[in-house]
Amino acid sequence: MQFAQLTQFFEELEKTSSRKSLVQILARLFAAADANEVSKLAYLCQGRLVPFFEPLEIGMGEKMVAEALANAYGKPRQDVLRRFGELGDLGLVAAELAGQTTIEPDTLSVDDVYDALYAIATTAGSGSVESKVGRLAELLRHLDPLSAKHLVRIPLGRLRLGIGDPTVLDALSFARVGDTSLRKQLERAYNLTSDLGYIAHVFWQEGIEAVQHIGVVLGKPIRPALAERLPSAEAIIAKMGRCAAEPKYDGFRCQVHKMGGDIRVFSRNLENMTDMFPEIVGAARTQIHAETAIVEGEAVAYNAESEEFYPFQETTRRRRKHDIDRMAEELPLRLFVFDLMYVNGEDYTHCTYIERREKIAEILVEDTVLAVSPSIATDSAKVLNDYFLDNIQKGLEGIVAKRPDTIYQAGARNFNWVKLKRSSGGELQDTVDCVILGYIYGRGKRATFGAGALLTGVYDPEKDEFVTVTKIGTGLTDEEWRSIRELCTPVPERPARVNSLIVPSVWVEPTVVIEVLADEITRSPIHTAGKGGDQPGYALRFPRLVSFRGADKRPEDATTVAEIIEMYEAQRKKLVT
Ligand code: AMP
Repeated sequence: MQFAQLTQFFEELEKTSSRKSLVQILARLFAAADANEVSKLAYLCQGRLVPFFEPLEIGMGEKMVAEALANAYGKPRQDVLRRFGELGDLGLVAAELAGQTTIEPDTLSVDDVYDALYAIATTAGSGSVESKVGRLAELLRHLDPLSAKHLVRIPLGRLRLGIGDPTVLDALSFARVGDTSLRKQLERAYNLTSDLGYIAHVFWQEGIEAVQHIGVVLGKPIRPALAERLPSAEAIIAKMGRCAAEPKYDGFRCQVHKMGGDIRVFSRNLENMTDMFPEIVGAARTQIHAETAIVEGEAVAYNAESEEFYPFQETTRRRRKHDIDRMAEELPLRLFVFDLMYVNGEDYTHCTYIERREKIAEILVEDTVLAVSPSIATDSAKVLNDYFLDNIQKGLEGIVAKRPDTIYQAGARNFNWVKLKRSSGGELQDTVDCVILGYIYGRGKRATFGAGALLTGVYDPEKDEFVTVTKIGTGLTDEEWRSIRELCTPVPERPARVNSLIVPSVWVEPTVVIEVLADEITRSPIHTAGKGGDQPGYALRFPRLVSFRGADKRPEDATTVAEIIEMYEAQRKKLVT
């Protein structure tokens, strides 16, 4: 496939915001690709070269890309930057400059461009800046205006085609069978491997049967199993009967892959965090007695002397790229291992909770860094409630109850796991993870921060879109208000995946996740969460910010519309009884 052909598709995708059309256009693109190309396309259409969990970045910011443009088209850098200031998008600048040159564009293939971008991404060391700029400039010299426009948006992370993972899965199905009926099978493989390119390749090469046989793959993170909520120990016992219960730690979820001496640590949002947590890497080598294994747990900054857990705000200081060793000494982590998915070639996701816990006890030698999370078994609401209070007393968030006879269901939120958290005082039993969609200019003191209220939303995985649920004006410190502008990337128009009736002063890329506490959920005609036909949507009342979760949650990991509706129903029941 020619790169110019791909960018025609990008152009079409950019112009549509209807999800149905996105799926169909993407399906046509995939259908035109062979097995080798389709995996590259699955990454490229999301502006990447490799799956999300591989930490390969192209490593070129606006300055370097502007330099490459100047270099490619023989213009002074100042002119490029001035035009960038006017157009606000280096992609448009590239298209304009490419249109003014007399060079006849070559026919570069998707493979050629992919390989060149890959070479740029893997260029490191001294002289790498010049080398990256030179390579991008060389590539640009071979491209027509449209191709140049989309190419430069890739390193800048500005492709903005509005394509989330569910849309890619639907399009893969659509490309092969003309509808989305294979989504479930594809999603199962996706939940186990998180790698769209890999799945696309297997599907194209060997068909859907091979996709159905995809299992856990060492080195590819498994999408985490998630917990439902219930309001009390009584409700948990009534729903689950005899259950296991573990403390609910408030830190980072970590999935540790041990492949001999090669250890990888993935976060809740499947990012590769290996370099950030050297003590976990070291401990996995010595404390996990198996050649290969995948275990999961919650990492918390823990003071072994006083046996105190630090709050999330402290633990979160470990998510950093610099000063790692000093921070590892200052705030050492303890990983409370609560699950196990793979050992020495055997997939344990099919085993029951009891079997998985037994295997943890067998292969994990407890020490200062890796510990097994405690677990009790009970069918008594009183025992469960006492255990809950006991854990709260210790400064923990609550408990997670688990059905003893269930498998590890990757990527699923269901009643196999149920969380019970400290009550917030309001009607709601839990916080909501919202995505910032825009901000509204502040008045008075907040005018100086730039933002005075945040428009936030939740995620609808069925439609692969973000829908609004509340505006937040409280809970942020002055510093946090100021930081909003740094954290959020403003965009000129409503992003493709955002569905909103409210128009904020500034739209932002839906990337920053915040944890929000509200008093209750109400029906509201102005919010789009759960809105359908003449039915009003759902809204959070009296929302305030609790913490920034961007470090451990992707926007698609935000609370879903279905959860909001469930929480609304649970709150109504509570009010009635
Ligand atoms: P929440 O983020 O409030 O939906 O709660 C679910 C999260 O609790 C999981 O994603 C884990 O990161 C965390 N967690 C802490 N302790 C446990 C535990 N013992 N079992 C399962 N998840 C836990």
